[in-house]
Amino acid sequence: MTDTIDPYAHFAHEDDYPDLDLDAAAGRLSAALALRTVHAGPDTTDFAPFDALYELIRESYPRVAELGTAERIGHSILITIPGADPALPAALLLAHQDVVDVVPGTEEEWVHDPFGGHVDDEWVWGRGALDIKEMLMGELEAVELLLSRHGRPRRTVILAFGEDEETSSRGATAIASELSRRGVRAAFSLDEGVTTFMDAGAYGAPGTTLIDVCLSQKGYLDVRLISHGSGGHSSNPFGGTSLERLCLALARLAETRPSPRLTPVVAQTFGILAPYVSEGPFQTLVSDVDANAGRIAREAAQVRTLYPLVCTTMAVDQIEGSASAPNVMPADASATVNFRLLPGTTADDVVRWVRDTVGGDIEVEILHHTPAGRLDRASGLGYDELVEVLRRYHPGTLVVPSIVCGGTDSVRYEGVCDKLLRVTPFRPAPEELSRGLHGVNERISRRTYAQGIRVIAALLERTVL
Ligand SMILES: [Zn+2]
Repeated sequence: MTDTIDPYAHFAHEDDYPDLDLDAAAGRLSAALALRTVHAGPDTTDFAPFDALYELIRESYPRVAELGTAERIGHSILITIPGADPALPAALLLAHQDVVDVVPGTEEEWVHDPFGGHVDDEWVWGRGALDIKEMLMGELEAVELLLSRHGRPRRTVILAFGEDEETSSRGATAIASELSRRGVRAAFSLDEGVTTFMDAGAYGAPGTTLIDVCLSQKGYLDVRLISHGSGGHSSNPFGGTSLERLCLALARLAETRPSPRLTPVVAQTFGILAPYVSEGPFQTLVSDVDANAGRIAREAAQVRTLYPLVCTTMAVDQIEGSASAPNVMPADASATVNFRLLPGTTADDVVRWVRDTVGGDIEVEILHHTPAGRLDRASGLGYDELVEVLRRYHPGTLVVPSIVCGGTDSVRYEGVCDKLLRVTPFRPAPEELSRGLHGVNERISRRTYAQGIRVIAALLERTVL
């Protein structure tokens, strides 16, 4: 159902900000898309395109340059526009400079060079047009518009663009620790999040179009299970091989799985949606979300699109260590299991559950871990104005709080920002997104780009002046 939504059916007030020069803005976006800012680790990255992007930003936004200071932390970018009232906590606009590379073998499928910055009457083409240079440049466009209309704002505005969100988020971590060292506080932030409109059919409210404003993100955890074996000839496999014991352990995990749970954010989503829910199984349950939280979580876990919102998910992704021949027993066999943690679930919780489930003869170790994000409140400065603005520019939609199931840089700013909002105000059609994001022929329509700039400008007008 989601792939039939026409985004333009939910666009309004496109005549706001007549001083927004869309041709010029599209040209600046195309110049940014022509820079191949692929981050391949600190030692092997070609940083020349990152340097060029920094120069492009400094040259393209004269009022930002005049009223603000731009600096680089590593290859990440921090721009501060000091507000007239330094006592007010800042507004923080986030994005990342890096893009994923073109998938090898798909080069021929691109209609235009992914790093050519092609612009036509309808589209701006290129890798990063939807993830997330449109947001990076769009935030600058909105700030430039704000400064040219109103001059210096009351509240400080900070733009922070990490260099490696797609790989390690070290850039965002470095920016956040520098802000913290300087004693900078932000009241709220805006970062990438859910991008498309979604039909609420999964919630039992078909025909209702949703905009998700994400208030947290799931954690990331890789766990390795190791089953020890001594190898040898397989004529006497007394007690089973290491591989068998590993498979039994994985089977026990798969049969058990972490239980579904309704986090406060998803409970609130159901609460807001309640008047629109017309289909079972949620129709009766949403009349009292708190009392029915357990049942709602269990039902939601049966729906593909809701499953990751109510479960710490578990994916057995890698297995290693099988023997070299059919008549030889394997030595150590191991499997790597990827978990995505619901806010409120810790790595310790998961590892304890894994150990209890697999039994004592399997070694369990943590390989890589990013905790789940803090769960912020769906109200107050930043959130309220964002909801108001999204409703203005995207009528016929319902704004609901949610959580990001992948990763974003936002989580790195928890120490300096009171409310981390994750929503991409540039709303393409779902089919554009599913094809273009990390895929082929990534592009953004001029109309979508302009509307996103209006949303950010209007948010700033309501929060920083
Ligand atoms: Zn991104």
